[in-house]
Amino acid sequence: MLKMKPNAPKSLHSRIAPHVRDIPPSGIREFFDIVSTRDDIISLGVGEPDFATPWHIREAAITALEQGVTSYTSNYGMLSLRREIAKYVARRTGVDYNPENEVLITVGVSEAMDLAVRALVSPGDEVIYHEPSYVSYGPLVTFAHGKPVVVETKKEDEFRLTRKALEKKVSKRTRLLLLNFPTNPTGAVLRREDVEDIAAFVIEHDLIVITDEIYSELSYDAEHFSIVSVPGMRERTIYLHGFSKAWAMTGFRMGFACAPPELTEAMMKIHQYTMLCAPILSQVASIEALKKPEEDIAEMHASYEQRRNVMHSAFVEMGVECFRPGGAFYMFPYIGNFGLTSKEFAERLIEEESVAAVPGTGFGPCGEGFLRCCYATALDEIEEAMTRFARFIGRL
Ligand code: PLP
Repeated sequence: MLKMKPNAPKSLHSRIAPHVRDIPPSGIREFFDIVSTRDDIISLGVGEPDFATPWHIREAAITALEQGVTSYTSNYGMLSLRREIAKYVARRTGVDYNPENEVLITVGVSEAMDLAVRALVSPGDEVIYHEPSYVSYGPLVTFAHGKPVVVETKKEDEFRLTRKALEKKVSKRTRLLLLNFPTNPTGAVLRREDVEDIAAFVIEHDLIVITDEIYSELSYDAEHFSIVSVPGMRERTIYLHGFSKAWAMTGFRMGFACAPPELTEAMMKIHQYTMLCAPILSQVASIEALKKPEEDIAEMHASYEQRRNVMHSAFVEMGVECFRPGGAFYMFPYIGNFGLTSKEFAERLIEEESVAAVPGTGFGPCGEGFLRCCYATALDEIEEAMTRFARFIGRL
C-alpha cells in the first residue's frame, strides 16, 4: 500500500484553484480516450484533417532544420511571416493590418483565443458566445474570471446567430462577443446580412468581437464573409486564424491574431511572458504555406465538399434529420428522437457498430439530442460508417 509522506498536503484536490478545479475536462477527449483503446473503430471523431501537410510546406521545415534554424524569434513572430499574413488577410477580408504591430503569431488559434480573452476580460465581465460551440470558449472565459453568457443557436435557424437572440443576452456588464463561423461543431455559416446585423449590434452596445475564423477557407456554398470586413468593425475586432485546418497543419501549432495595435500589444505581453514565441520551424513552414495557399487548399476543399455531400445524403436517406452544413468538416445530425441521450447513443454506436462520433453535449448542454460527425475521413470509411449507422438506428 502507498503510504502518504508525513509532510504531504492532506488533499491536493482542495488546493487547486476552484475556477480551474470545477471545470470538467473536454467531452471530446474523454470520449476519445475510450476510442484509442480499440483499433477496429471507424472514427468520425477528432476534428482533424486526414491529409498530410502539403509536401512543399513540410520540405521547407525540413530544410530549415537541416540549416540549423533552431532559435527563438521575435515575440510577435518572424516579421517576414507577419508580412505574408497581412497580405493574405487583406486578400481575404479587404482589411489592411500593419505587420509591425497589428499581427501576432501564436501557438495555434487555441493560444490566440486565450490571449485575446485574457487581455480583455476583467473579473465579472460578461462574454457572450454561441453554443453549441468549440470546447474551449467557456473554460477560457472562466479561467480569466469572466462570466460566460451563452446564446443558443438552433437547428430550426440552421444554427445561425441572430441579432434578436443576442439582444436577449446583452447586459451592462457585457464586454465581448466571441464568434466562430463556420462553426465547430455544427458547420453553420452566416449570410452577409446576418454578419452585418451582428456588427450593428456590436457597435450599438460598444462591444469588442473576437472572431475565430479557422474554418473560413472551408466554406462550400458561398464565399465566407468576415465581420471584420464590415465598415467600423476593424477598430473593435480581434481576427483569429491559423494553419491547422485548411492547410492540414494541426501538429505545427500555428495561429495568429490581427487587431489594432493596443490590443495586439496587450496580447503580446501575455504571450511574451508565457509562451515567448511560436516555434521557429513552424513559422518557416507557415511562410511557405502562404506562397500558394489557394492551390494547396483547393484539392482538400473539393474533397471535403464531396464527403459532406455523401454523408449528408446518407443521413437524409436513412431519415435522420440533419442540417446541411455550409462549412468546416462537421455534420451535426439530430438523434434526439431515438429515445437515447446523445451520450448513450454515441456509446452504443461504438459498442455495437464500432463507429465513433462525439455526443453533442461535448459542445454545451444545448448539444443534447445531437452527434458531431467529422467527415475529414476517407470516403469509403464514411460510406461504411453510414451503412453501420443505418443498421444501428434500424434496431432502435
Ligand atoms: N477554434 C476552433 C473553432 C476549432 O475547431 C479548433 C480545433 O478544433 C481550434 C480553434 C484550435 O485550433 P488550433 O489547432 O489552431 O489551436
